[in-house]
Amino acid sequence: MAPHQEKKLAEERKYHNMQNGTKASQGQWGRAWEVDWFSLASILFLLMFAPLIVYYFIMSCAQYQCSLTAPLLDLLTGNKHLADIWNRTPMLTYRAAGIYSLWVTFQVFLYMSIPDFCHKFLPGYVGGVQEGAVTPAGVVNKYQINGLQAWIITHVLWFANASFLHFFSPTIIFDNWIPLLWCANILGYAVSTFAMIKGYFFPTNAKDCKFTGNFFYDYMMGIEFNPRIGKWFDFKLFFNGRPGIVAWTLINLSFAAKQRELHGEVTNSMILVNILQGIYVLDFFWNEAWYLKTIDICHDHFGWYLGWGDCVWLPYLYTLQGLYLVYHPVQLCTAHALGVLVLGLLGYYIFRATNHQKDLFRRTNGHCRIWGRRPEYIECSYTSVDGTRYHSKLLTSGFWGWARHFNYTGDLMGSLAYCLACGFEHILPYFYITYMAILLTHRCLRDEHRCSSKYGKDWERYTAAVPYRLLPGVF
Ligand code: NDP
Repeated sequence: MAPHQEKKLAEERKYHNMQNGTKASQGQWGRAWEVDWFSLASILFLLMFAPLIVYYFIMSCAQYQCSLTAPLLDLLTGNKHLADIWNRTPMLTYRAAGIYSLWVTFQVFLYMSIPDFCHKFLPGYVGGVQEGAVTPAGVVNKYQINGLQAWIITHVLWFANASFLHFFSPTIIFDNWIPLLWCANILGYAVSTFAMIKGYFFPTNAKDCKFTGNFFYDYMMGIEFNPRIGKWFDFKLFFNGRPGIVAWTLINLSFAAKQRELHGEVTNSMILVNILQGIYVLDFFWNEAWYLKTIDICHDHFGWYLGWGDCVWLPYLYTLQGLYLVYHPVQLCTAHALGVLVLGLLGYYIFRATNHQKDLFRRTNGHCRIWGRRPEYIECSYTSVDGTRYHSKLLTSGFWGWARHFNYTGDLMGSLAYCLACGFEHILPYFYITYMAILLTHRCLRDEHRCSSKYGKDWERYTAAVPYRLLPGVF
């Protein structure tokens, strides 16, 4: 290579590094730049096995009445071969492909074509055009918050169909559950692959891209921070909320309809699961503007983890309780049902109140009251890639004085309640609490690592003031 070309290349590399902040002391917050062997091993494991895990759970219900051990035993004892199980698995059908395409297209239409009207008549609801947090490159994105309206329109149409239009049976989702799984996988892989290619060739904001140099890590954790098509189609906001979370409540309703069709009644456990998860979903859309300030939007890049996770993992594994109850209709005694309800509502209250305290505190820049008192906090600062210094505050009173992630604790209590609604006959419905415990503990550590690089010494002062993560006195 000619010397002048080498010099030019070196300059380009230097410029690229500065832009992405790799070697700068500032702007390191976000996902890892250097991939350690453990992260790489976990990523390879998930890329290979996560789709199989989803298939295993759904197949266990369809072929083994939700027993997780029976398929394994069958295979180990030679009673069945993999081919036997696979041959009994429904394949992709034109009908499922049609339903899924229509579903995603309808959600894109609701997202892109109907500006929010809910904030005009619902007091306290924050919708319409809202701003996200400052990205590491110093960009502030605008979002059209209209998820609540998409959820309402979708559910009004669902109930209109179930009550008097009768275009399709409310059991349609259950009846096509495995063929729809193949469609969700196709979309999940397509969108993640597209996001990777886009990150390389036509990123929305080049300064917010990260390249670790490891193909698998970049594919899994994403390159682009906020990939968009046009001004408004934001991949993260769309794929996380719809089609995944709008679908969550419809899937549960379809399972309830199937339970009634098969067993002649909807059990109190199925009602509890529908109500508690319905509250969680509705809360998500009511607070969609707040969601712009959560880790998913503020810190994670968009790759397979979010793209495939939102399309497949979330709708298929977060709804396992409802699916289980179709195969095992559990009628709980009053004390058990009440216990589940109280735990679920208490968990929800803690989850919401904790998130609300932080949101209020940050929105008002500390000029608010937490539990009737002026908030206590620690002043902190950080620097974005372009060298701009920002000031912020970390709340140390209210639930945030009890533990650094008490919102996760509330979430875990709610998650446990969904599982307990299914009784104690099988472990399959308890997958959710196990998964959430791992997810949220890992998230604590990941978030703290990021905050520590973002705030440095200020973060150390904060952890000294609030020493526990999830449970005061324990962890
Ligand atoms: P948080 O809402 O707790 O956000 C963490 C961020 O808040 C930190 O990175 C930091 O960001 C800021 N922060 C941390 N401590 C303080 C403090 N003391 N005062 C003010 N700001 C602080 O976490 P998540 O985004 O992970 O979760 C949001 C909610 O979503 C949680 O309740 C969680 O349970 C739920 N969740 C549910 C999932 C599910 O699958 N069901 C998955 C993930 C989350 P900054 O850089 O702005 O300082």
